[in-house]
Amino acid sequence: MSLISDNLQAVTADIHRTAIANGRDPQQLQLLAVSKTFPADAVIAAAAAGQRCFGENYLQEALEKMQEVSNKMPQLDLEWHFIGPLQSNKTRPVAEHFAWVHSVDREKIAQRLSEQRPKNLPDLNICLQVNISAEASKSGVLPGEALALAQKIAALPGLRLRGLMAVPEASHDEQQQRQAFRQLRQLSESIQAAGLPMDTLSMGMSGDMQAAIAEGSTMLRIGTAIFGNRNYAKQT
Ligand SMILES: *Cc1c(COP(=O)(O)O)cnc(C)c1O
Repeated sequence: MSLISDNLQAVTADIHRTAIANGRDPQQLQLLAVSKTFPADAVIAAAAAGQRCFGENYLQEALEKMQEVSNKMPQLDLEWHFIGPLQSNKTRPVAEHFAWVHSVDREKIAQRLSEQRPKNLPDLNICLQVNISAEASKSGVLPGEALALAQKIAALPGLRLRGLMAVPEASHDEQQQRQAFRQLRQLSESIQAAGLPMDTLSMGMSGDMQAAIAEGSTMLRIGTAIFGNRNYAKQT
């Protein structure tokens, strides 16, 4: 498990270096450790190395992991982010157990999260997932529909609109990576210009982190570079 702390240190150093190289303040970049498919002990190892924010994609797996982590380490104060596809009949546990949702892409989901967010908890932080490459197969609101959805979310109680998220088409070409991230940033700027303040650009994964930083990411969602390669065969 000590490998995880080495990896975290290397990723953090990489983020720092890339931010400086792009004239950005490293403090403006938050690291979300994506722990999907990895066990509670991997989360605990990362937390021991100072990581506080964790991203999960699969609801059932996430709920079990959270429970196990808090049983083993009740003193840990972790922040959980839901970043996976969300079905409307599964919103309640998300509203009850997470601090952030990055994958809101339709009004119905937002409405349910708003109604189901417990009143004793702080507002649920929301990022709109945008289908920036406009691929029919991918989740995410189309760029042209993002402003209208953002306006609806901003008006819902119990939710706090924080920004935009995207998972662009995988590419090894840095210019292509940057172009997708630039589109997301420009969309964010146009939504803000329309009067909706947002402070988060959730973009950049292990394979395109540098491009995302160069284009203004504020939250990197990093899995593989911290925890290693995922084994989906173990995933039920
Ligand atoms: C799995 C996943 C990540 C992490 O990807 P890596 O390439 O392992 O860093 C980030 N964001 C989302 C939405 C994911 O599903």
